Amino acid sequence: MTTTPILSLSAAELEGWLAEHDAPSYRRRQIWTWLARGVTDFAAMRDLPGALRDALAGAFRATSLTPIAVSEADRGLTTKTLFELEGGHSVEAVVMRYAERSTLCISSQAGCPIGCPFCATGRFPFGRNLNAHEIVEQAVDAQRVLAAEGRRLSHVVFMGMGEPMANYRAVVESVRRLSDPDLLGISPRRIVVSTSGLIPRIEQLAEEKIPVTLAISLHAARDELRDVLVPINRKYPVRDLVDAAQAYAEKSGRRVSYEWVMLAGVNDTERDARELGVLLKNRLAHVNLIPFNPVEDTPYHAPDRASIRAFKEKVEAQGLNVTVRDTRGREADAACGQLHERVMRTKLAV
Ligand code: SF4
Repeated sequence: MTTTPILSLSAAELEGWLAEHDAPSYRRRQIWTWLARGVTDFAAMRDLPGALRDALAGAFRATSLTPIAVSEADRGLTTKTLFELEGGHSVEAVVMRYAERSTLCISSQAGCPIGCPFCATGRFPFGRNLNAHEIVEQAVDAQRVLAAEGRRLSHVVFMGMGEPMANYRAVVESVRRLSDPDLLGISPRRIVVSTSGLIPRIEQLAEEKIPVTLAISLHAARDELRDVLVPINRKYPVRDLVDAAQAYAEKSGRRVSYEWVMLAGVNDTERDARELGVLLKNRLAHVNLIPFNPVEDTPYHAPDRASIRAFKEKVEAQGLNVTVRDTRGREADAACGQLHERVMRTKLAV
């Protein structure tokens, strides 16, 4: 008999199932607490009656995700897992361990319809949107891994495979679940939702009253270049995008993070730094420079350290807050889509 992934049920649906099995509604909270601790075997949920544990095991499974490849980097501080979804598509999730926090980079779609030319994910045909529970299950799995190390998942960034705003309802639902104190209890302030620039969805998110941090995958400050690097720009030009992001910042009180993948000779010039400064002047903004993680068969390269430092100084000189993001996971195929690409190539080769 096929079982149902338990997190595909809402709190009310699980409580309904419990009522049908003569169990009180507070059992739902106990089950979620076990899952949040990384316990995926119903038989190990010791504070539940034995008959209920048996009934749960007969009806449900803890997750719908099947890990099919794992890759480690940074002396074990970074772990990337490729999960197979039901129906055959696969997605990646990356756990990054720091001294004071543990962050999960999560996928919201199998593949991505945006097609940025420097991105491994964008080169595959788009698969499908993930359901909310498939997003949450990535976090529950990360928590399982981290709990065994005495750690706790503290931050989530929607920067894995996919354009989160193109799967809006599932992403918002998953944010609510991730922050539910009965499940993982991750404050929305520790959740970053990125977008390549779907303006109507940014406006909608501002109305949801969940104060997640918005990250804009900017990469270029002029339309002519951004039309190439982030093709959705042809529909939503960069100035309109920054206006929408600023409105989000004002409404949520959260500074917007602008992501800038640094591509040597493409977007790291004096002109680019100047245009970025003008575009974000007087905005509630923080700029994150991300050295490009090389992707095979693309014409792009990462600038050297001196060029990155020089670009950072030029942008800072215009009054913007700028950080250079660490290049976690270079050995772990860490640019989104790279582990998927390697596994797919291996599969095709056998
Ligand atoms: S960079 Fe992001 S938005 Fe662009 S193709 Fe890759 S996953 Fe999609």
